Amino acid sequence: LSAACAGEREGATGAATGDSTSAAKGFAADALIGVALPSKTSENWVLAGDLFTDGLKQAGFKSDVQYAGASTTVADQQSQISAMVTKGAKVIVIGATDAAQLATQVTQAKQSGATVIAYDRLITNTPSVDYYIAFDNFKVGQLQGQALLDGMKAKKPNGPWTVELFSGSPDDNNSGVFFNGAMDVLKPLIDKGDLVVGSGQKDIKQTAIQGWKAENAQQRMDSLLTSTYNGNKTLDGVLSPNDTLARAIITSVKGAGKPIPVVTGQDSEAESVKSIVAGEQYSTINKDTRKLVAETVDMIKALQQGKTPEINDTKSYDNGVKVVPAYLLPPVIVTKANVAEAYANDPKLAPLTK
Ligand code: BGC
Repeated sequence: LSAACAGEREGATGAATGDSTSAAKGFAADALIGVALPSKTSENWVLAGDLFTDGLKQAGFKSDVQYAGASTTVADQQSQISAMVTKGAKVIVIGATDAAQLATQVTQAKQSGATVIAYDRLITNTPSVDYYIAFDNFKVGQLQGQALLDGMKAKKPNGPWTVELFSGSPDDNNSGVFFNGAMDVLKPLIDKGDLVVGSGQKDIKQTAIQGWKAENAQQRMDSLLTSTYNGNKTLDGVLSPNDTLARAIITSVKGAGKPIPVVTGQDSEAESVKSIVAGEQYSTINKDTRKLVAETVDMIKALQQGKTPEINDTKSYDNGVKVVPAYLLPPVIVTKANVAEAYANDPKLAPLTK
């Protein structure tokens, strides 16, 4: 695949990658940078917006940081990106609200000479995405799958264990990657019969939670409890793709008067960190937003100087049209066992672990 050559590093003349014309030229040190984020479905997005505003300012750029609204998310984000193009943004960083609905806007951006960076979530079905920067999403899923097993084994050494599976919003490319990562660990056990999905709902179409909304997860858990876990049937674990959904699942289980199963999560949200310390939620994932934003700002600085930004993956993220060159950071699993250590350098979370 031609995308392989996009991995070439520093010193590239721009001709080498062929897809990054703006990178070859660089741009003004005080240029406008657009940042289009999805709606605030989890704390990491709120933090990212604040960090981009500060980080871009410190780097000398002008910035325009926008969030999609809570309901008309796709249309909001589309018009925000178009407005950034009109204002002459040189780089547009996008956390897509719907992976597949931005082709027109990112193509406009490319035609205007801007570089497009997909942030945290991939943009699909368009050649007009230059780079992808994220935590390793497949690894996130694998860590969640492994944590689910570890947590259940700690409570009940021998299987079979009964579980339920949840996945994220179908319009977010990450949802499938997280789920596939988790199933990479869990499926062999399901096939052997060591792991039983009580409801039988194993397909991502059945497990998806539209909009990553807590109320949708709580509703699904409520109906699973009624349909499958009435009487004394035990539920040993629930694969939850993030903290917001994990807490909704725990609320549902508590409401039904059932013991809390092993529940996974992601994002290191304050309430979930407290829940882990209290022994309720079993795990979360630390994807330090401060690092991800800082690396993105470094990418933008490289582009400003006409250099090719650092890339460490040129095979994992095929968006349906091309393999998008990516810079992936390593996620960290957090349970009660390492919670204090994991957030020792986080001024907001460290006090919650004491
Ligand atoms: C992010 C997760 C987040 C979810 C919901 C995903 O794309 O990678 O960190 O929990 O969106 O906001």
